[in-house]
Amino acid sequence: MIGKYSGPVCEFETAGPCGIVIFGASGDLTSRKLIPSLFELYVRRRIPDNFFILGVARSAMDHDAFRERVEKAIDLGVKAIKPGQKQGFLRRCYYLSGQYNSDETYKNLKNLTTDLSEKYRTLSNVIFNIATPPALYKVIVEKLSINGLVEKGKTESPFQRVIVEKPFGTDLDSAVDLNQSLLKYLAEEQIYRIDHYLGKDTVQNILAFRFANLIFENVWNRNYIDHVQITVSEAVTVEHRAGYFDQAGLVRDMLQNHMLQLVTLVAMEAPAKFDAELIRDEKVKVMRAIRPFTDVSQPSAIIRGQYKEGEINGRKVKAYRQEPGVKTNSSMETFFAAKLFIDNSRWEGVPFYLRAGKALKEKKTQIAVVFKEVPHSMFVDDIKENPLEPNVLIFGIQPQQGVFLKYQAKVPGSKMCIYPLNMNLNYADYYGVELSDDYETLLLDCMMGDQTLFWSKKGIEFSWNLITPLLKEWEKSNYDNKKVKLYFYEAGSRGPVEADELIEQDGRKWMLS
Ligand code: NDP
Repeated sequence: MIGKYSGPVCEFETAGPCGIVIFGASGDLTSRKLIPSLFELYVRRRIPDNFFILGVARSAMDHDAFRERVEKAIDLGVKAIKPGQKQGFLRRCYYLSGQYNSDETYKNLKNLTTDLSEKYRTLSNVIFNIATPPALYKVIVEKLSINGLVEKGKTESPFQRVIVEKPFGTDLDSAVDLNQSLLKYLAEEQIYRIDHYLGKDTVQNILAFRFANLIFENVWNRNYIDHVQITVSEAVTVEHRAGYFDQAGLVRDMLQNHMLQLVTLVAMEAPAKFDAELIRDEKVKVMRAIRPFTDVSQPSAIIRGQYKEGEINGRKVKAYRQEPGVKTNSSMETFFAAKLFIDNSRWEGVPFYLRAGKALKEKKTQIAVVFKEVPHSMFVDDIKENPLEPNVLIFGIQPQQGVFLKYQAKVPGSKMCIYPLNMNLNYADYYGVELSDDYETLLLDCMMGDQTLFWSKKGIEFSWNLITPLLKEWEKSNYDNKKVKLYFYEAGSRGPVEADELIEQDGRKWMLS
């Protein structure tokens, strides 16, 4: 531990006036994430009094019934609520019931947003947050445009911005098609494609760590780094998302978006300045340099796994195939482990091992940068029993957020004993603050017009370009177990042993066990 932070308070300025229209406002994401995050922003004065929230969905509800739901969502999703904090927020919440494909809904929406904009003096700035099933994204944007609620190019005040949830497409063709449909009615600068991982402070810290510190950037390459490991381990099953998940699988749900974003942050070059377009361009360059998974020269494999029944933290868990909404013979993966290479001069020959799974032993997301061994050790005679281990730099993303460096040190005593030591910087302890929720950061960024943490058109298409051939191969074989091998693992375990073999055959091992 390195004492406590005593530097300046680093908070965003308060966003300007705006109204927030949430489509799919009766749904899970709205209650669990959007409302609690907006409330936190309101309480912390990151959004001004000049704002309103207007929920839109088919469910029949009046403003008061919606406010009751909003209040419940706050009670469930926000830890510390002071007396009197909710009223001002709830007063600013409104609801409109209507079909997503009916012009009448949008006519009513236009009237209501105009009135609310005047009432709350939001300068006609508006964000449309589309939190519906993905099949509705296109029709909602089309109807918004036809009915005069969005106009292409309205990027600055009075702005009209659109937040689109993940998944953005299911393969390359559908992502290109969705981009084309949205870009018919909106400028790229008006589209905010969410990847909530990017809203995490520790994820953003990767760039600060690499590019604001001379000591790391100099060794951040194939000469010093042996390999990189990225693990996203979840202790939850597919739960209520089983229906969606059985169509998508974990490669679509996790690799195409969150994990590729983490790879790009570790691997990208520094742009000339911290600018959304420049940063997003650098990420695209990394994605273009990733060797295709289906390339025959790729000495990798991708291991697919699926959980059987088991026990997680003392709780009995059904097999994936027994989950309601999952086909009883489903071959969809709930786990994968992969090795990828980035074919550029910085990373040539450095493997990136990626591993993600559901229903595993613990919840943990981390990036481990494993350095090479010291080329020659003068301590040979002193360390026979414990050979020197290489340095490892870990970015903890969840649940523990921080940076952890493993290095060698002399153990106190008369003998020259060397043993690894961990230098731990736990964010929450050091900064003494609750870290913002990822959606808080992203919603505020959208209000501020900052697209840095959102996917660009090119980025999303290149990520699908990488994953789609692999998915097509699997689909061609109809996910037949024999052709696209599926390895079963017990719920509550570390995943299939074949994932260990993937890395161990290269003489390495996973940092987390
Ligand atoms: P829901 O399934 O809860 O759907 C949201 C709302 O959309 C529902 O309340 C319903 O409202 C309406 N709706 C649902 N199905 C249909 C349908 N077939 N036709 C028309 N309207 C429908 O979704 P979530 O809130 O879970 O997610 C919203 C979006 O966010 C999705 O794209 C999802 O992939 C994404 N997302 C969700 C996460 C989560 O944790 N929930 C995490 C990450 C992304 P009504 O019937 O009242 O119109």
